[in-house]
Amino acid sequence: MDRKCRYYVWGSIDEKRKVALVSWKKICKPKKNGALNIKSCKLWNIASVRKRIWQLATKADSLWIRWVYGVYMRGNQDIWIHTPPVDSIWYWRKLNSIKSVMTNWYNNGTYCLTINGAYSVSRSYISLLGSMEKMLEADLVWNNIMLPRHRFIVWLANQEKLLTKERLIRVHIPVDDGMCCVCDENKVESQLHLFTECSWTVKLQDELEM
Ligand SMILES: [Zn+2]
Repeated sequence: MDRKCRYYVWGSIDEKRKVALVSWKKICKPKKNGALNIKSCKLWNIASVRKRIWQLATKADSLWIRWVYGVYMRGNQDIWIHTPPVDSIWYWRKLNSIKSVMTNWYNNGTYCLTINGAYSVSRSYISLLGSMEKMLEADLVWNNIMLPRHRFIVWLANQEKLLTKERLIRVHIPVDDGMCCVCDENKVESQLHLFTECSWTVKLQDELEM
């Protein structure tokens, strides 16, 4: 599912993959943090599975928890120190393999990432996305005036990720001519040139009285 979303964002197809200009993990962060707020199915799945660990740690009252304690954890009442037998099923070993990073999130049966101490899949998911620096220009990029395509271009420009000729040359992708094609100033087509220096851009800004 994540791959299909990635392909959609960058216009890739199975036969022809396009360059991913921004990492998928960054794209999945909220818009106010400079991303597209696309849900990462992989990370959401991990956050959801971790809820099972939390239910085991707090001995939630459910048939599945009672069944797990009766079948897999006989004689071992603490999920945090439980070591699954090597011959146990794949699911049980996998479930136990993801619990090590969760130990800092629990304190005497409460979940540290939420105010009420209860497990939250969405809060756990956000923590999996990593650092969340604010994007100062978020309101400028994600406004209702621009067309979606233009928002996407400004979003890329804000990160200096536009695929200009200058950038193509920098990553060793051959181009016929690295010069700007909208003016005749014989200047390299860089993001800085296109948005600020190009005479065509300056003329357009003057006409729009910007
Ligand atoms: Zn130009």
